Amino acid sequence: MPVDATLPYDDDNIFAKILRGEIPCDKVHEDEHTLAFRDINPQAPTHILVIPKGRYVSWADFSARAQDAEITGFVRAVGTIARQAGLVETGYRLLANTGGDAHQEVPHLHVHIFAGTNLGPMLA
Ligand code: IMP
Repeated sequence: MPVDATLPYDDDNIFAKILRGEIPCDKVHEDEHTLAFRDINPQAPTHILVIPKGRYVSWADFSARAQDAEITGFVRAVGTIARQAGLVETGYRLLANTGGDAHQEVPHLHVHIFAGTNLGPMLA
């Protein structure tokens, strides 16, 4: 069921539990503002989720409310993770499903990094 990205932040969402260490994750990166881990149901040979540590429901929420340092830290982290995974040479795709029409399932902002194969012109 896609989330309503206009609702207030839900502290019981699964990524909030991962951030609190209540649920394990396959971590690939962590810094002051950002956590990244492998998707539990990968849709490409490399499928990493990058999330801000702050309580943001979606890209819409993050872009409206986050401090500049959080935004800068998060955007730089996405690039660093891709670079350290060796994806710059081959290419990669970023995706942030936002709200109902995009079928956002987890109500904590996450950017998907897809790579490791020819992804075609668009995701289905
Ligand atoms: P969305 O449709 O953009 O919200 O994507 C949510 C993603 O979270 C999906 O690709 C899921 O496979 C992934 N996911 C859900 N629960 C977990 C988890 O516990 N660990 C890692 N990935 C998860």
